[in-house]
Amino acid sequence: MQSAADRREALKAVYEQARGCEKCPQLAATRTTVVFGAGNADADLMFVGEAPGANEDKQGLPFVGSAGKLLEKLLGEIGLARADVFIANVLKCRPPGNRDPHPTEIEACQDYLWRQIDLIQPLVLCTLGNFSTKLLRGDPTGITRLHGSAEVRVIGPRAVRLYPIYHPAAALYTPKMLEVLREDFARLPALLALDPPEQPEPEPELVIPEPEIVEETDREPEPASQLGLF
Ligand code: URA
Repeated sequence: MQSAADRREALKAVYEQARGCEKCPQLAATRTTVVFGAGNADADLMFVGEAPGANEDKQGLPFVGSAGKLLEKLLGEIGLARADVFIANVLKCRPPGNRDPHPTEIEACQDYLWRQIDLIQPLVLCTLGNFSTKLLRGDPTGITRLHGSAEVRVIGPRAVRLYPIYHPAAALYTPKMLEVLREDFARLPALLALDPPEQPEPEPELVIPEPEIVEETDREPEPASQLGLF
């Protein structure tokens, strides 16, 4: 088992890889910064949004615009601060003009997110809106049907409580939606207080059998210079 400090170091290494990413040529050409995600690398609660917007792209931090302010307010209402949680997105680069992420971009970027989740090991993984919910559930069911109900899901090697809720941007100008989002947020403390979900059996370690040693008598010895290579 890796310690929290080891997982944090490994997360930094993933960030180092992501910050120079060129997998999506259009996004790499138009972005200002790669917005990897921010917060407590050992958080019990992790949020996954959609993609950085203009403010996030400028500052290199997720959810710092108006949707972020709302997220922070709702967190405060349940006694949490940004520093208590980890916040990431499906895409690490801003789609120009805030268009929807393309399926090819989600495909190209998703490995960073899976690795973040593996290393942070949250108890509750809260997806904000359709893009993160569909990606992490591997299913096209939309947020309107799923919001507000947690389910235990195996994500990578670990079981986590996946909790889809509306994206805060959707609630910014619709008071009814804001009420629903607030109600869904209010369930988070109880979810975090539950015992951690039962973990799946770890994959058995691959045991490579020792090669059989066969005595060879009439073979030329290997040249000495090859020995240093292995
Ligand atoms: N919306 C998102 O989905 N992510 C951000 O980081 C900001 C706004």
